[in-house]
Amino acid sequence: MKEHLKNDAVNISHLLDIIKKQGSEYLNSLADRATSVPNVSVPELADLPENGYGTEEVIRIFNERFEPVMVGSSGPRYLGFVTGGTTPASVAGDWLTTIYDQNTQSTKGQGDISANVELETVKFILELLELPHHFLGGFVTGATMSNFTCLAVARQWLGKEKSRDVAKEGVSEVFRVLTATPHSSSVKSLALLGLGSNNMIKIKTEGSDREAISVPDLEEQIKRLDGEPFILISSGGTVNTVDFDDFMEIRKLKEQYNFWWHIDAAFGGFAACSEHYKHLVKDWEYADSITVDCHKWLNVPYESAVFLVKEEYRILQMETFQNSNAPYLGDPLDNFGYLNFLPENSRRLKALPAWFSMMAYGKNGYRDIVENNVSLARNFGRLIENSNDFKLLAPVRLNTVCFTLKDDAKQNEVEKFLEMLNDTGKVFMTPTFYNQHKGIRAAFVNWITSETDVQLIFDTMNEVIADVN
Ligand SMILES: *Cc1c(COP(=O)(O)O)cnc(C)c1O
Repeated sequence: MKEHLKNDAVNISHLLDIIKKQGSEYLNSLADRATSVPNVSVPELADLPENGYGTEEVIRIFNERFEPVMVGSSGPRYLGFVTGGTTPASVAGDWLTTIYDQNTQSTKGQGDISANVELETVKFILELLELPHHFLGGFVTGATMSNFTCLAVARQWLGKEKSRDVAKEGVSEVFRVLTATPHSSSVKSLALLGLGSNNMIKIKTEGSDREAISVPDLEEQIKRLDGEPFILISSGGTVNTVDFDDFMEIRKLKEQYNFWWHIDAAFGGFAACSEHYKHLVKDWEYADSITVDCHKWLNVPYESAVFLVKEEYRILQMETFQNSNAPYLGDPLDNFGYLNFLPENSRRLKALPAWFSMMAYGKNGYRDIVENNVSLARNFGRLIENSNDFKLLAPVRLNTVCFTLKDDAKQNEVEKFLEMLNDTGKVFMTPTFYNQHKGIRAAFVNWITSETDVQLIFDTMNEVIADVN
């Protein structure tokens, strides 16, 4: 192993050249890469080698065993879940994150000061999404961890309202959480935080064909709590139909009642990038905390998301995540260290890919990505609407198309159709259940996707449905 390590160190430039060549070949042929690998024979798990092989040989082994099962998930026709691509600048930032290998904690002091990059990137995010600067933000692995982080501070706040320090004492009573259509990751976060997903009070939606919160029902449920403080989890873009809660109305309720307002705007928050769609998030800046994913519409590599918590709660946030027994309780920004503000301790310079990408393409670059994706989704929605075999399950509100087979008698064939469609390797979509129907979601979140892709997708769907019928 000593020899291999020494050789590798001497040959680092050669090794990086190999990776660079392979990487650019991959990215340049991404559009042709299969979006799924049906009937794949997954290689058996290998044993740990005694002496190792050295990196060049390991690249060969990887290429033989695992490279063929890498799917084009950052390609133009991967519409499953909410899957963003990677901009060239974000790839550059991601590579350099690895090269520099900082342990991103602090803004000053001895050793690493890379958190300055992170604070600047959070500032860019606020400016991109036209949010005021009074949010304290940081990077975590995904919107799940962002929801977790925000709800952890919410829990500390709720405890304080009940004269408890939950971080120190634990959760000893029922805390109420009100919500209409939470993302599964918020429910998971409630479980992790000891708040218990059963303690969620489900608010009605605006109607059977909506996922947005019914404001009259919300107010009714609030009144039933009889002055007890609570947490409200609201949606800035649901995954099925990209429905938005009415933030203007919720803001009014917040003036009247005492609650922590969290918005999960994992991808819907990017509506703020466009003059045409920013009305969807009007007044969201009045929330106490907001979740924004970066590996979705910001088009940076996994794992990247931001939490935003109002700066006035930074003491609560520090109590929640404090990593020492004698926390510094002066001005936390004076001695700012991320390890006292979020779940992880050691962490990479997660913000750098986002920093690169926002620097490289600016506000207008992201406006164009968002508007292009929405226009593709609308055009795809129009093709669905005018087809003989498919129908929309919800209007196309932003960038996601939720549809099913036109003939309700064929509900049992939706899964089969989707499986056959995905097996073509030309497009990837994911299943859902909405408004009493088995459905399919197609989410447009990738900067690369074009009209040609939409037409190819629709043609492929028509070929597959002919086989199903
Ligand atoms: C994707 C998504 C999440 C979960 O995000 P991860 O990045 O997968 O952790 C949470 N909320 C919403 C609305 C989402 O779209």
